[in-house]
Parts: sequence; C-alpha cells; structure tokens
Amino acid sequence: MPNTNIRDNIKQTLSTFMRQDCRLIAVSKTKPVSAIEEAYAAGIRDFGENKVQELTDKAVQLPEDIRWHMIGHLQRNKVKYIAPFVHLIQSVDSLRLLKQIDKEGKKIGRVISCLLQVHIAKEESKYGWDETELTDFLFGEEVREMKNIQVEGLMGMATNTEDQQTIRNEFRALAHLFERLKQEPLPDQVKMNELSMGMSGDYPIAQEEGSTMVRIGSAIFGARNYS
Ligand SMILES: *Cc1c(COP(=O)(O)O)cnc(C)c1O
Repeated sequence: MPNTNIRDNIKQTLSTFMRQDCRLIAVSKTKPVSAIEEAYAAGIRDFGENKVQELTDKAVQLPEDIRWHMIGHLQRNKVKYIAPFVHLIQSVDSLRLLKQIDKEGKKIGRVISCLLQVHIAKEESKYGWDETELTDFLFGEEVREMKNIQVEGLMGMATNTEDQQTIRNEFRALAHLFERLKQEPLPDQVKMNELSMGMSGDYPIAQEEGSTMVRIGSAIFGARNYS
C-alpha cells in the first residue's frame, strides 16, 4: 500500500514505468491543496480532477504553471467555468458536449484541447463514444466546422475487475482503434497523439498496450475518503 509520503510515492510509481515517455497525470480529486503542493514540489505539473467546482477552487490557489486535466463526466452547463484555463478535457463523452466546448472556446477565443472518451468497459454505466459513433463523427462534416476544439487523442477506462486478461483486452482494443485512426486522413481538428489509459490498479498493463498518458490517484496520494 502507498504510504503518506507523496514524494516517495511519485518516485516509486515513476520507477515502475515501462515507458519513460509516458506522461503521469496525478489525480488529486478529493485531496487537499496541500497534497497537490507536495506533488508539485516533487516536480509534477499535470493534475487531474473530476469535478468542476473542485477543479476551479483548487486552480485559483495553486501555481499558474499547473496543467489541469478534467477527467470526470462534464455537464455541458459547466464547461464555461473551466474553458478559460483547462489544459486538456480528457472526458469528452458525447458530441453534444464537444459542441458545447467548441462554443465556449469560440466565446473566449481559445482552442480547447480534448480527448474523446471511448467506451471500452463492459459496465453499462461508463460514459463514452462507441467505435461507430466515433468514426462517423471523425469522417463526417460536422467536425470540420468546429474551429475551437483540438482533439489530441483518445481516453478510456477498463472494467473495474481483478481479471487482468479482461483489462488487457479492453486496453488493446482501444490501442488498436487509436493506431488505426492514426493512419487515416483526419481533419485538422483531430490528431491522434495521446492515448490516455491506465490508473493506479492497471497502468502497467495499459503501458504495455501502448498508453501515452496514465491517470494515477491513489498510488500517489493514498486511498480517497468519500464522506
Ligand atoms: C479517479 C480516477 C482515476 C485515478 O484512479 P486511481 O485508481 O486512484 O489511480 C483515473 N481516471 C479517472 C477517470 C478517474 O476518475
């Protein structure tokens, strides 16, 4: 189990990385500003949060060179609160949401970087695009009209299970989709640079399957207390 020394946890986590070019996003949701400051002092600049209110509250209290990643389900009426400063919205789970992000980006003259969250897990409750939806969109006309979003790649979450093979199969399917799309002539608004997959429990498998970015919370900050 991770101890409470955030610096040690980061060092330990990075030492197990299979790919040194894989980016670590420290998932600080539910954790206090002081914990983020500790990780910042240890050199981390990328932090992930899953709630808009918490993200904006923390952002104003912390250094401006932090790159904030939105990783949780985002309601369309809340996009405006993070649009001015968010580094990457990883959890774009629908076309309606992407359109709203484009709209808010236009209002403030900013191109907002996004990942499209693909539904890869078996669980019904997980948000995200399925493959057909995604390809219809990427090769359709609508995306070409969007001038204030930049899709940087894909994000996915595996089924929450002990079964390593299920997890691997899901990551592998997403990586295949990512690699396939990379070969396609994509519109200017879409690049396949980033594949965000892997959390504390499954990031070694995700890295083996080709992840470029992992989102790690509890292995760095310890278990979360939801009260
Ligand atoms: C909470 C969360 C994580 C991090 O989970 P850990 O198991 O604590 O590493 C990663 N991705 C998303 C989308 C999350 O909501």
